[in-house]
Amino acid sequence: MKINTIQCKTLLTKSRLPEADYCINPYVGCLHGCIYCYARFMKRFTAHDEPWGHFVDVKINASEVLAKELARKPKKGITLLGSVTDAYQPIEQKYRITRAILEILLQYNFPVSVLTKSNLVIRDLDLFKQLSQCEVGLTLTTTAQEIARNFEPYSSTPQQRIKALDTFHRSGITTYAFIGPILPGLTNLETIFTAIVGKVDFVMAESINLKCGNWENVQDLLKSKYPHLLSLYQSRFTQTYWGQVEKELRTLSEKFKIPLKGFYQH
Ligand code: SF4
Repeated sequence: MKINTIQCKTLLTKSRLPEADYCINPYVGCLHGCIYCYARFMKRFTAHDEPWGHFVDVKINASEVLAKELARKPKKGITLLGSVTDAYQPIEQKYRITRAILEILLQYNFPVSVLTKSNLVIRDLDLFKQLSQCEVGLTLTTTAQEIARNFEPYSSTPQQRIKALDTFHRSGITTYAFIGPILPGLTNLETIFTAIVGKVDFVMAESINLKCGNWENVQDLLKSKYPHLLSLYQSRFTQTYWGQVEKELRTLSEKFKIPLKGFYQH
């Protein structure tokens, strides 16, 4: 594992995602090491020789840069913490970059959205409680510990993530489960809905994207742990397949009375 500290020149970037106006990435790289990680294209913007998932650059001056950017009074908008990294990956415990960023966003009363796979987010509950507009999302691809350990080896367990959702929801903060990527043959949607009912305000979902340089890693994992699913994944799934998944999501959303805010397909 290679961990560097770097000085960033800018931090707040305009978002191309429909649910956010701005993005902030406190780190370059992510040590959660998800096998399917969609953000590995970021490696080309670094000088690292290590494979994706084996390095992180810590933007050590992030909060000072953000304070200067917000002092210029940009138009307020929803700011997503972590679009190509996880803002609460394990090294955040030591560096506290995300916490320092949150303090600045709070100072300028910026709306905040965070999506993470880590229950470390609970550490900052005190700050989230003070924000006038915020939402906290936890990713769930499965409730089965073994599947999560295989695909997302260094993230919090699904049970820890569900507990984090419960903690925020009980504190009156808007919460959501991001069910994605949906892993065909492994993600059990009904089990996830059952586990999160009463703990979230809405769900979002996403199909797996196998066109972002992750296929080799996914294929290796399938060969070693789930060989019976290899041919299914090799078929790369049809639109009809994802249409059926969407139907199931909508049925469960109605059954459990949890609104489905979006289903992104690749
Ligand atoms: S948490 Fe997100 S950014 Fe980090 S490795 Fe997993 S998919 Fe990639």
